[in-house]
Amino acid sequence: MIQPINIKKFAGNYGGKFLGLSGSDQIRQVTIDSRKIQSGEETLFVALDGSRQKGSDFAEDAHGRNVRNFILPLAGEKNTDKLEDSNILLVEKPLNALQALAVMNREAFKGPVVGITGSNGKTIVKEWLAQVLSQGFQVFKSPKSYNSQIGVALSALEIQSRHQIALLEAGISQPGEMDRLKQIIQPQLGIFTNIGSAHDENFDSLETKIKEKCKLFTEVKYLIYRKDHSRINHLLKNGFDPDRLISWSDKTGADYTLSVRPEKNGSKIFMVARDLQTYTFFTTFRDSASLENIRHVIVSCMTLGMKPENIQKGLQLLHAVDMRLTLKSGINRCLLIDDSYNNDVAGLEIALEFMAHQRKPTGRKILILSEMLQEGDEIAVFQKIAGLSEHYEIDLFAGVGKHFSHYKHLFPKQSVFFPDTASLLENILGFNLDKDLILVKGARDFHFEKIIQLLEAQVHETVLEINLNALRHNFNFYKRILRPETKIMVMVKAFAYGGGSAEIANHLQKIGADYLSVAYIDEGVYLRQKGVTLPIMVMNPDMQHLNLIQDYDLEPVVYNRRTLQDLTSSPFGQPNGISIHLELDTGMSRLGFTEADLEDILTLLGKHKEIKLAGLFTHLAGADEAIHEDFSRKQLRTFDRISKVIMSTLACSPIRHALNSAGIIRFPDQAFDMVRLGIGLHGVEINQLEQEKLLPVATLKTVVSQIKKLTKAETIGYGRQGKLIQDGKIATLAIGYADGYDRRFGNGKAFVMIQGKRANTIGNICMDMCMVDVSGLQVREGDEVILFGKEPSLQYLAAQIGTIPYELLTGIGMRVKRQYILD
Ligand SMILES: *Cc1c(COP(=O)(O)O)cnc(C)c1O
Repeated sequence: MIQPINIKKFAGNYGGKFLGLSGSDQIRQVTIDSRKIQSGEETLFVALDGSRQKGSDFAEDAHGRNVRNFILPLAGEKNTDKLEDSNILLVEKPLNALQALAVMNREAFKGPVVGITGSNGKTIVKEWLAQVLSQGFQVFKSPKSYNSQIGVALSALEIQSRHQIALLEAGISQPGEMDRLKQIIQPQLGIFTNIGSAHDENFDSLETKIKEKCKLFTEVKYLIYRKDHSRINHLLKNGFDPDRLISWSDKTGADYTLSVRPEKNGSKIFMVARDLQTYTFFTTFRDSASLENIRHVIVSCMTLGMKPENIQKGLQLLHAVDMRLTLKSGINRCLLIDDSYNNDVAGLEIALEFMAHQRKPTGRKILILSEMLQEGDEIAVFQKIAGLSEHYEIDLFAGVGKHFSHYKHLFPKQSVFFPDTASLLENILGFNLDKDLILVKGARDFHFEKIIQLLEAQVHETVLEINLNALRHNFNFYKRILRPETKIMVMVKAFAYGGGSAEIANHLQKIGADYLSVAYIDEGVYLRQKGVTLPIMVMNPDMQHLNLIQDYDLEPVVYNRRTLQDLTSSPFGQPNGISIHLELDTGMSRLGFTEADLEDILTLLGKHKEIKLAGLFTHLAGADEAIHEDFSRKQLRTFDRISKVIMSTLACSPIRHALNSAGIIRFPDQAFDMVRLGIGLHGVEINQLEQEKLLPVATLKTVVSQIKKLTKAETIGYGRQGKLIQDGKIATLAIGYADGYDRRFGNGKAFVMIQGKRANTIGNICMDMCMVDVSGLQVREGDEVILFGKEPSLQYLAAQIGTIPYELLTGIGMRVKRQYILD
């Protein structure tokens, strides 16, 4: 921050109830997360209420880390006596106070502030703009996608006096939010990237959404946008003084014309500026989204007065890697966190936090880090790096860059240092990597992607990418439909629908799922071994392995009398007995007791108090189709009736659950105590009623192995089934039916996406490979290919071959690497 905060003075202006002495003048950090505190004496802790715990519960933890300055909710006043010798400000809404602090720091900053919003691309535009501008300026940018009510406030508090330009990103999901973000950001230059369908459910129209976003720009001097987005153009033209608008387009008629010509290794961008001067830029990107983002960057840099030759220099540094943290499998059973595209202190902290949230490695936690010379005061930066790596319990620190040699003494003895990336690569065998968790993070000129290339397990180029942000989005969508007290059990059977059960379960634990369920005992054991602590229901347990159920604290489903009898005659290792879920068959005719069994079960359970009824449930047979609605309602009524008999006879109140994903959408008012979410979490709304509100989670990707020019006379693949209609070319892809790319997708039944364009399959799908028609497309060997994801969607592909999305997801072969991404 620019000026240290004095909390008493702040209280004088802001209001609230101040308890304490004089107030410290030393506050240089504000945090909302007690785990991240390093120099407690300099830190102000603001207690925000999280979803699961009250922020004020963490105040004590912060106090233990030497924090003596607090902003707490008024409601938490009674808990203040444990915070000895502290300055405490009690306020109605701590988030508002945090935002007020952010406004103070923003207003102390004298340089220009750029505010960026839009549906897509805002984080990339911000990151790239920062990289290009750093050719000539000390740039501050908000870390990653810190663009929410909290994120923007925390970002604005990080602006320092040495910065010359600040870039802040604003994201909204609901009406009314932008006003507050604008008060913090107060941008002089605005960038409106584009508009899309994200968060549509919360806005009555596209118009409303654009207008809400525009509130960020009401006082900007200039606003940059792409004229080809006609809705934006229309609304801006009517709402803003034309002198403040700076438009660009690939056609003439805008302030800047920026047309693109594809080249062999990238694209040329031809620019005609407002004064009709012309310039040419080159970039290695060829996809339309990146080219749009780059053109926003060019126009912004021109507007900020940067010289075109410096812009070109900056563009050369932009990297093809996108900026999400990616978890990859590495050699020697290591896990890699790839953050090789940029390096700054704020980003390092986020990456270390991400690392801390991964499963505990069997081996070491290793940090490979390049020096950061853009960051101002050198000693302070190296001290901060050393502090962070100690705080996050890094076992082995590897520093790359000449300047590290002056600061070795700050790091633990076993740390290693290399003057450059090449010498690290030469010595990497000496690390004796084995089952380690490795964070690789470097400024781009260090080319740490070479380290990733060396360490990444390269068995097979096909990956199933699991987007954990999308997963959370879908989870929250279902959560919003339900009453707040309704619990959510997530079905993570079958390797979590193919996505990887341990990673997904760990993430669900973090985002607030209440229960998990698997089909078989070994699936539950595996989750426990991977550190999952949520309750786990096992749908079809083999009671021969009762010991495993007990040892691993699993909750078996009991669906027949025999099992229940087995249980009543088993000696229990645990003093508290065992928790079970009873399954009632109300019409699915798969597993479960029927009404006729009722008397028997009740007698048995009545006698055996060591068997505790944790849950009672049934399963709907036709929740996803309107024609079965009457039948489903009858199932739910039957369930309600039988379960009430059980509960009153046994005088207990187990968690009752009945709805799967489709059921939540169709019968949200009949959710009982808990729902069982499955396919919906993966972004498939099986009723096709609310599909547009979900995001696809899994993307199956492979690469082009070879391109072949063929004439229409030649045949392609086994059985000579494939033929081009005209002379053209095909691409052979590194995926086949053994990877789960169904053989029925052959001969044009499916298409894949390459460089943003569709290519139909041609010929039969082979075991490990398949061919697609790429005639007329710009495709190179090694290009990425998307087999499913946003497009083509799972639903489309499943329909093409007469199956359901579940089968496609769970059929992805085990040799396909799973990769997890999280912003
Ligand atoms: C798999 C399963 C679910 C989840 O079904 P989705 O259609 O994927 O939501 C719910 N309940 C039971 C008993 C299941 O077997």
